Amino acid sequence: MTAAIYPFDRTSSQSSVRRAHAWIDVDLDAIRHNAALLHACAGVPMIVMIKADGYGLGAAPVVRALAGASRSGQAGLGASAVWAYGVATVEEARALRAAGYAGRLWCGTPLLAEELRDAATVGLTPALHTASNIAAWRTIGRSPWHLAIDTGMSRAGVRWDEVVPLRSSLSEHPPEGVFTHFHSADEPDESMALQDARFAASLLSLGAALPASCIVHSDNSAAISRRGAGSAGLVRPGIGVFGALARTPLPLLQPVHLRARIVDLRDLRVGETVGYGGSWTATVPSRIATVPVGYADGYRRHLSNIGCGVLHGVRCAVAGRVSMDMTMLDVTNVPCELGDVVTMLGTSGEVTLTTQQVAAEASVSPYELLTGLRQRLPRHYLGDV
Ligand SMILES: *Cc1c(COP(=O)(O)O)cnc(C)c1O
Repeated sequence: MTAAIYPFDRTSSQSSVRRAHAWIDVDLDAIRHNAALLHACAGVPMIVMIKADGYGLGAAPVVRALAGASRSGQAGLGASAVWAYGVATVEEARALRAAGYAGRLWCGTPLLAEELRDAATVGLTPALHTASNIAAWRTIGRSPWHLAIDTGMSRAGVRWDEVVPLRSSLSEHPPEGVFTHFHSADEPDESMALQDARFAASLLSLGAALPASCIVHSDNSAAISRRGAGSAGLVRPGIGVFGALARTPLPLLQPVHLRARIVDLRDLRVGETVGYGGSWTATVPSRIATVPVGYADGYRRHLSNIGCGVLHGVRCAVAGRVSMDMTMLDVTNVPCELGDVVTMLGTSGEVTLTTQQVAAEASVSPYELLTGLRQRLPRHYLGDV
């Protein structure tokens, strides 16, 4: 291997580790840093959303990392910062219990009546919004629950203008919290103000049916970044913790780095093509490197002839179509050899391919890019506790 800029400076202690031929480095220090920034910005405790296996990066390691101090001495976040972790299914909650997490787990996705018993068994705090499920939950064990109010997302919860019939259910088994969710907190439009107003109106019409101690919450990462400390009791950041929040002034760090070693190299003559469909043609004598990452790993096919990888600190364009298991890069101008590491997402030396940039090139959202990274790529946790 030639002198490599990989890995980036903060993790240079890892440079002697010989990795599998393609993998993801997950920088837990960066995740801790991002969570602390969002918490400082919001000024209230967080439900840290770790649904979909921690946005694809690994829910259990993220929970461990946020609770514990880092090797470098950076403190964990503590209970005053993290009120709960947010999951999307009973199964995700069960997996975290099996991994040893005993604290609060909150689920924002509606559950079917037949799931409530299992939810109670794993100690999940559900979002409810029908009289029948609230009554069932009360019968099962009088455990905490949150009232979900739909203020315009049209996805989950009771309509803001139809809450009054729930008053008697709330009086019988009052919710611990009440929340709504914004559909466009990341857009500089008026919709968030409208949803805020609808939410406030619904709370007003519920009046004394909500206990005075009821915890009100609404803000996702984009809303936190946009208005800092709101008047709410909790916030619910997700994507910001994972460093992929668009248009934010917060100095979030990139925690995810997709890397692969060069497994083949060839020289092409003028006129020769690369990959399925022959969609890339050498216009000058060219050197092509193959890395063992493809769309089956979540490296999107749309990045064909569009994306790039970073090799020894230099961007190298994807040449031809991304295939299922392999991607080719034009490395004509970068001396390299078999086994050298290419960074397809994340940081190498001075260059960072952010999740937002790569997602935009792939024509998907950052959420979709992260949660689409497949399990064939082993996750390596840097800064683990
Ligand atoms: C996923 C989710 C969040 C987090 O949203 P981000 O945009 O990732 O910060 C917050 N609340 C609910 C209900 C969610 O489903």
